Amino acid sequence: MPQQRCASYYTASLTEDSAYPRLEGDHRVDVAIIGGGFTGVATAVELAERGYRVAIIEAEKIGWGASGRNGGQVTGSLSGQEAMTKQMRNIVGGQAEEFVWNMRWKGHQIIKQRVEKYAINCDLKHGHLQAAYKPSHIKELRQDFDQSQQRAIGEHLHWLGADKVRQVVGTELYHGAIRNDYNMHLHPLNLCLGEARAAAGLGALIFENSPIIDIEHGDTPTVAGTHGRVTANSVILAGNAYHRLERKRLSGMLFPAALGIVTTEPLEHDTAMAINPDDLAVYDTRFILDYYRMTADKRLLFGGGANYSGRNSDDIGNEIRPRLEHTFPQLKGVKLDFQWQGMAGIVINRIPQLGKISDNVYYAQGYSGHGIATSHIVGEIMANAVSGSLEKFDTFSKIKHIRIPLNDRLGNVLLASGMWYYSLLEKLR
Ligand SMILES: Cc1cc2nc3c(=O)[nH]c(=O)nc-3n(C[C@H](O)[C@H](O)[C@H](O)COP(=O)(O)OP(=O)(O)OC[C@H]3O[C@@H](n4cnc5c(N)ncnc54)[C@H](O)[C@@H]3O)c2cc1C
Repeated sequence: MPQQRCASYYTASLTEDSAYPRLEGDHRVDVAIIGGGFTGVATAVELAERGYRVAIIEAEKIGWGASGRNGGQVTGSLSGQEAMTKQMRNIVGGQAEEFVWNMRWKGHQIIKQRVEKYAINCDLKHGHLQAAYKPSHIKELRQDFDQSQQRAIGEHLHWLGADKVRQVVGTELYHGAIRNDYNMHLHPLNLCLGEARAAAGLGALIFENSPIIDIEHGDTPTVAGTHGRVTANSVILAGNAYHRLERKRLSGMLFPAALGIVTTEPLEHDTAMAINPDDLAVYDTRFILDYYRMTADKRLLFGGGANYSGRNSDDIGNEIRPRLEHTFPQLKGVKLDFQWQGMAGIVINRIPQLGKISDNVYYAQGYSGHGIATSHIVGEIMANAVSGSLEKFDTFSKIKHIRIPLNDRLGNVLLASGMWYYSLLEKLR
């Protein structure tokens, strides 16, 4: 049975739901994309805009996975940024810093252009705060700020000391922050659905409630569902943490981690103004961090923590409430109207994984919780790759990844131990 959308604030505030047909019969396209999250949909828009005939085949509904459940924060920090820069030095030499820096902001441009071009109503707003959780976090944050001042984006960033932070967020918790007015926040499910509508308008075929159960490799690979098949010149596997295809090639590379989010009831105007007067998206500097922002109807949307066992937590509302109330004691006992969880794809070195399973079957996955902007950058890279311009794809596919030679369940146990170790190290920082 196809699953319905999860009972989230996003589902409750959809501007338009999708109703694409199930995959039935045989279809022939240029590019078949498995998975209708941001990776699949963003790639499809790129390709459809260039005149390619594309099919997106989604097991559930467009945006059903992490893309329709996340915190909605479009950040300029890539996951695995440091490790990526280090490896890039061996691949692109002296241009590594520039390569990574430009990538950090590219996704913002793509999303903004798309929202404007296709009139996507997704509550897009500018303004972020990256807040130092401990005095010892200030040094690193300040370094990041100072570096940004040498670059074009620097004019959008401002350093706030502890007193100034208190003027823009109603908590005593933080010791300093970078305010970034280039970063954005938005309603991710409405963005994903709007982009899918754009792709369909450009001729893309979209199928929902159609899990792909097999990929037949060959000169023209075929993806097979239970009631239909799509044959293509190229296939892109964009199922991220939710798929179990091609285990021989992909097992031990990416691990699902359950992340949870709650939203409060709509807050009184004065309360909302006291906790977040400038409508900023806020995240802190910890390894396993808290992040929050206001929704369009003035709820506090708050996410934090992670369950690295690969399974959902039993009562995510009760797990997140103490973190929320620790940040905003004035909201103690506030009613939580929605609580939900989603699976992020975690990679050991946190660097996104782009690669090939065979000559014309590609995969793109693993943004380790920083996927909104990254998936749009990746969408462009994948579209370039299947249309013959492989430069950036090749750069990424040369990155070395750690593969855990255990089954997925034991791999998750190892990942959970690793994360516990990192958070312990952080407590000592
Ligand atoms: C709770 C949470 C909060 C987050 N917050 C943020 C944030 O604030 N900012 C940020 O940048 N990132 C955030 N992320 C990460 C971000 O959401 C993801 O990195 C991004 O959405 C991944 O997109 P995707 O398309 O690769 O994967 P998904 O959105 O998970 O999409 C994969 C899709 O593939 C489909 N699929 C799987 N297997 C098959 C199959 N066999 N056949 C057909 N379809 C299949 C699934 O049904 C799913 O719809 C968060 C993630 C979570 C879970």
